[in-house]
Amino acid sequence: MIPIDNIIIRKSITLAAALKVIDEGAFGIALMVDAQGRLRRTVTDGDIRRLLISGNTLDDTLDLLEDQEPKVGQLGISPKEAMRLMNEASIDHLPLVDNNNHPISIVVRREMDNCVPLSLPHMSGFEQTYVDEAFDNNWIAPVGTNIDHFEKELADEVGALHAVALSSGTAAIHLALSLLGVASGDTVFCSSLTFVASANPILYQGATPVFIDSEPGTWNMSPVALEAAFKDARKKGRSPKAVIVVNLYGQSADMDPIGEICESYGVPVIEDAAESLGATYKKKSSGTIGELGVYSFNGNKIITTSGGGMLVSRSGELIERARFLSTQARDNAPYYQHSVMGYNYRMSNILAGIGRGQLKVLKDRVKARREVFNRYAEALSDVDFIEWMPEAPFGTSTRWLSVLTIDRRKSSILPEDVITRLADRDIEARRIWKPMHLQPLFAENRYFTHGDESISDRVFETGICLPSGSGMTEEQQKRVIDALIELFSQ
Ligand SMILES: *Cc1c(COP(=O)(O)O)cnc(C)c1O
Repeated sequence: MIPIDNIIIRKSITLAAALKVIDEGAFGIALMVDAQGRLRRTVTDGDIRRLLISGNTLDDTLDLLEDQEPKVGQLGISPKEAMRLMNEASIDHLPLVDNNNHPISIVVRREMDNCVPLSLPHMSGFEQTYVDEAFDNNWIAPVGTNIDHFEKELADEVGALHAVALSSGTAAIHLALSLLGVASGDTVFCSSLTFVASANPILYQGATPVFIDSEPGTWNMSPVALEAAFKDARKKGRSPKAVIVVNLYGQSADMDPIGEICESYGVPVIEDAAESLGATYKKKSSGTIGELGVYSFNGNKIITTSGGGMLVSRSGELIERARFLSTQARDNAPYYQHSVMGYNYRMSNILAGIGRGQLKVLKDRVKARREVFNRYAEALSDVDFIEWMPEAPFGTSTRWLSVLTIDRRKSSILPEDVITRLADRDIEARRIWKPMHLQPLFAENRYFTHGDESISDRVFETGICLPSGSGMTEEQQKRVIDALIELFSQ
């Protein structure tokens, strides 16, 4: 609540004194009350100017002003409704009054106007140069120097040997499955707690996903559940063709135990690092540990090309094959000849230019997201019923999103309550990904849990993603924090 004592005035004060109050108050207005403290009208410097123009002097009093029916809001009004009233009356301030018409607080348009989104694109300023270069050379196509450079620069940044730039992260997962020979009738193990794009490409190949639970320490694939799924598969004589391990919200999965299990069964790992570009696992870059790694440059990711993806690998052969398949699988012949089915999955040279500009600031973006997280964690450290997504000791998370869970044993506040209350204040928060094994699309698919309890169910039911953009101002973040503190202290 904004204190307004210093802008309350009476009719009896002089124009000069009123001007001083308006000038020293933070809002550009004063609130005139009667002897009982009831709001009579708002006073602006325009009102006083008009009195002076009509021949009055600075020593005259506000008695000259007519009473007016001021536009007010009742205390407790929702910010949305306050905005509607201000728009209706074309005003920038809305005094809030209690039942006796005593002014108690004020809503200020300039502090409400901007919505705080979950995660927005954040340009570096370097992008335009590369995009202009593409225009200057008329390389407005899925070929050109930006693509070649972007692949090399990204590979260098993460320490991957080979990379191919694609039209999306989903396309990269699809090609990865195709490269590993996943076909109709096969099964593929996949993390359950993820965005549907991790699993859809399994369906594109006519294969069947089997979903694996998370472990509590990382929220990523549980080696225990993975082992159980492998044992079950062996009993049935149906080994999976591949395992898709997702690195959630900027944090790597525990790749060593997962890799050991997969290796012992001779099954390759695809790392879905769409959300974890810039994160590390035991000093290696997230996305470079499995046979194939996938990055996404969709608009909400830590860096973006508006839409795009990258497939990386230690194997030059696999990446060459992906490049071939991504451009319609054209044979080396003097005419258009095709022996296998291909795709139109290459990134455009323009978008690769945006990617090059973005890649230059990846480290800054990671730093900024981590700072956003740290400010939340510190400001809300007294709230004993929330827990933050843990950061596993094996590496650094990018904190792509700041995510908390509410302990149901200690609080009855539901994620929906928090999201609705923040939305009232134009702050965008979201639920955690709904696990794949709970999706109607995958109702028939098998799921292996970490133990007796399904960890991904619990995280889903209690978790909330907070605004986390690297371009967020501290003032915006303070709004989120103030709203949460108010809500959590009720
Ligand atoms: C964003 C995302 C993808 C898909 O990437 P696109 O570039 O949007 O196709 C895949 N997996 C996860 C976990 C993601 O968050």
